[in-house]
Amino acid sequence: MKKFIIILLIFIILIITTISFIYLHNKKVKRLEYEKTIEGMKVTLIAGSNKKDSGNINSNAYIIRTRNNKIIVVDGGRDIDADILYDYIIKYGDGKVDYWYITHAHDDHVGALLELLNGTYELEIENLYYYFNSLDWYEKYDKRGFETEKAMIEALSNYKIKNKVECYKGQIIQMDNVNCEIIRIANPEITNSDNGNEASMVFKLTAEDVDKSMIFLGDAYVYTSKELLEEPEKLKSDAVQMSHHGQNGVTKEVYDAIDPDICFFNAPEWLYNNDNGNGYNSGKWQSIIVREWMKEKNTTNIVAFKGDQTVRFTRDGFEMVDN
Ligand SMILES: [Zn+2]
Repeated sequence: MKKFIIILLIFIILIITTISFIYLHNKKVKRLEYEKTIEGMKVTLIAGSNKKDSGNINSNAYIIRTRNNKIIVVDGGRDIDADILYDYIIKYGDGKVDYWYITHAHDDHVGALLELLNGTYELEIENLYYYFNSLDWYEKYDKRGFETEKAMIEALSNYKIKNKVECYKGQIIQMDNVNCEIIRIANPEITNSDNGNEASMVFKLTAEDVDKSMIFLGDAYVYTSKELLEEPEKLKSDAVQMSHHGQNGVTKEVYDAIDPDICFFNAPEWLYNNDNGNGYNSGKWQSIIVREWMKEKNTTNIVAFKGDQTVRFTRDGFEMVDN
């Protein structure tokens, strides 16, 4: 009987050792797979609710990987996009985001982040970058967005965020081989326009080793455009997140100064085609006008309604990749 128990114990120990070995080994292989391929940066546009069958509504979310697999998230999308985003954070970062940037606190940009912070998700955000106007300002000037803005400002003290960094204009943040330059932060004096959107932070990510950049405009609008054009040379970028989902955002002069090769449209199909249900260009949105501006520049357009897409920024240009 004693002998039997000893054999059984050895057997159990053997099984546990084997299982842990396989598990740890797999984890390591998974990480290496991403690490070895990266030079420059990989930008994944997460389509989420822009897709017809998952909401058919505008949402802004990106996950970006540096050369040594540092994970950067921009915005994150709507609350209903939280699970999709979380899957990426697990896949690429084992549940940890190294750098998270918020353009502005509207629900189509920070809804997923709020969901991840307040829900039961295991998540660690090493650094969160943002600039918000005061709560009073949002209450007074952005009634439509106020509930989310309030929730976001309150969530800044959430335990899942290790360092929160209130950004300033001209700030440079070094992240592995990628740097971020903060080009513009919210200006409380802008109160006579589309206020919550005009409170967008604008920043540019540059992969230094391959000299390629992408500018994020959030939902910046006409008054922000005037500010941006005070230093047009700062705007030049290889790629752009089209402002306000590709319509009614920044002015043509701003896109001229950016002069991009590649444009990311975070829009559902109806918005991209200005289709109110009666066909192409039947709506009241500015999307076709903006698309015409970009057509003049011969840009490649990446559109969210077609699903998640990853673009690798390389020395020679851009390539679409699987992961
Ligand atoms: Zn938006």
